[in-house]
Amino acid sequence: MGYKIVHDRDECIGDGVCASLCPDNWEMADDGLANVLNTELGDDMGCNKDAAENCPTQCIHIIDESTGKCVIHTDCKYA
Ligand code: SF4
Repeated sequence: MGYKIVHDRDECIGDGVCASLCPDNWEMADDGLANVLNTELGDDMGCNKDAAENCPTQCIHIIDESTGKCVIHTDCKYA
């Protein structure tokens, strides 16, 4: 159990905010869009929380696997 990332890559605009705020787990790919390196976060969201909160298109979702609910965006389609 812990937190899991779902990245809606088709909504990514490639501005690089995630890779800037959380370079340990986000990188910019050759196609100009972001890639998440590890989707299973365990109990510590770390800087992924900052990335999700500041992503301009809100395409980074963090789900609490114990509840199945998104913990960042209240309008998350996965909640
Ligand atoms: S912050 Fe969001 S929109 Fe920007 S590159 Fe990262 S995932 Fe894509």
